Amino acid sequence: MTSKKLNLPGPKARAILERDAATISPSYPREYPFVMDHGHSAEVWDVDGNRFLDFAAGIAVCSTGHSHPAVVKAIQEQAEKFIHISSDFYHEKWVQLGEKLDQIAPFKEDAQCFMANSGSEAVEAAIKLARYHSGRHRFIGFHGAFHGRTMGALAFTASKAVQRRGFHPMPGVTHAPFPNPYRPRLAFDPTQGDYGDACVDYIENVIFTYECPPEDVAAVLVEPIQGEGGYVVPPDSFFPRLRKLCDKYGILLIVDEVQAGMGRTGKMFAIQHWHTEPDIVCMAKGIASGMPLGAMVARKSLMVWPPGAHGNTYGGNPLSCAAALATIRLLEEGLIANAAQTGQHTLDALEEIAARHPSIGQVRGKGLMIGVEFVTNKQTKERAPHVREKVIHHAFERGLLVLGCGRNTVRVTPPLTISPAEIDEGLAIFEEALTEAEQEAQLA
Ligand code: PMP
Repeated sequence: MTSKKLNLPGPKARAILERDAATISPSYPREYPFVMDHGHSAEVWDVDGNRFLDFAAGIAVCSTGHSHPAVVKAIQEQAEKFIHISSDFYHEKWVQLGEKLDQIAPFKEDAQCFMANSGSEAVEAAIKLARYHSGRHRFIGFHGAFHGRTMGALAFTASKAVQRRGFHPMPGVTHAPFPNPYRPRLAFDPTQGDYGDACVDYIENVIFTYECPPEDVAAVLVEPIQGEGGYVVPPDSFFPRLRKLCDKYGILLIVDEVQAGMGRTGKMFAIQHWHTEPDIVCMAKGIASGMPLGAMVARKSLMVWPPGAHGNTYGGNPLSCAAALATIRLLEEGLIANAAQTGQHTLDALEEIAARHPSIGQVRGKGLMIGVEFVTNKQTKERAPHVREKVIHHAFERGLLVLGCGRNTVRVTPPLTISPAEIDEGLAIFEEALTEAEQEAQLA
């Protein structure tokens, strides 16, 4: 059955888009005009009554689906008691969330947690703590990384030049190549290790030797799977080797799980796929099903900063904490397992689609964090950003929300509540959109 093309944007959506253009900053990178009215699990409706399947989940945020009843109830119950008290005071849900994060943190040592409002702020807190604890002032980041847009986080973000252009990001961060096995940029000798090893060797043999003395480096900040940079999964060698490098020079390993974390990859934290213990973990997005919450969770022994060294107004916001506790419960009670199983189903189905289509260069990912990279030719791997754009738009016209990442990749990041039947429905639309895009690009 082929899907019907919707006439988008509809009249109500168009009216809101006009008002939006008048008063909302033009800096938001909107991909297409979806104007939300309501949602349920992995389905959403726009203001004109059109139904869409949601393979975007609010940029990998709505882990428990839209308005999961248990999350709604937790927020409602908390809202009736109190909405805010400020981080100068105490409340139990905040402590409960700290206890839960200590329990699930991907390292053996006890954890302490700093609560923030977003991923960027969790990253800022991690940068500050690493500097404070180590007394060192430099950092290693990675090309293709995204860690946020506040000035500290932006110094690390390097997934698209537009994110940095005109802002003169702060100094102190040296970027290394992130190991993308599909597109290795460094020459390496495969008899001496794989591309993951090669990227760690580059940090030690080039960056530490010529540019940045390791004893000045406070921390390495890295995403376990690069998100905005294109859903890049590193080789298995990478994280164990990076951990060893950090240990050798007394450098902290900060893992940014903002996009990959909270069950999306089929484990609570993506770094757990590589049995590597970080020193600090940044979380946000999926942690509270869409309520604004970030958390910087560190080994307790690192939290040497005194009262007043770092804080905020909304940290530990009661509604966000209530939503996070309900979210993590749902993740542990089945959604992480669903992400693993339904994720594998999705990867397998996408591999089948890739075999039928000339423009899919690679399908990659873990759990429900999946990237589909488009090329003009599977042998030359020439990037096909124009095909990617058309796929996204044609999918939207047919009732499927997907987002891009990197230069020529589409990400598939549905709510973790999604069923295999909904995946199949969405992928059928995806393939129709792809067929149309390939015809237009004369690739079919
Ligand atoms: N880190 C990663 C890995 C992200 O993907 C993002 C957001 N895309 C951020 C940090 C920043 O999060 P926020 O937009 O909540 O500030």
